[in-house]
Amino acid sequence: MNKKEVLDRFSHLEKQFEDLQKDFSLLKNDLVQLMEENHQLAHENHHLRQRLDDLTQEDSSNDHQTPSKSVGEGYDNLARIYEEGFHICHVYFGTPREEEDCMFCLKFFN
Ligand SMILES: [Zn+2]
Repeated sequence: MNKKEVLDRFSHLEKQFEDLQKDFSLLKNDLVQLMEENHQLAHENHHLRQRLDDLTQEDSSNDHQTPSKSVGEGYDNLARIYEEGFHICHVYFGTPREEEDCMFCLKFFN
């Protein structure tokens, strides 16, 4: 193995190493972004669960005969959340609905 060959292999490896470093830092940025998104979604989910619990408690205080949550209660809660202006569809769940109806949400009512 001559000197030139060794140098070529070395610079080749060096290039690979630099590429890896670039990939790594891109991946790290993606990871940070995902973690931020995850944090935001967890926060939103927590808020929505609390809101749902509040609504469920309001319902059960009106009707003590059914301590276990029936399908109807969950349905009513979602309908109420929709009326309050939030999406209940799997596509935009929990986000503000603006003025117009959402066809994904409306499918839920059919
Ligand atoms: Zn929707």
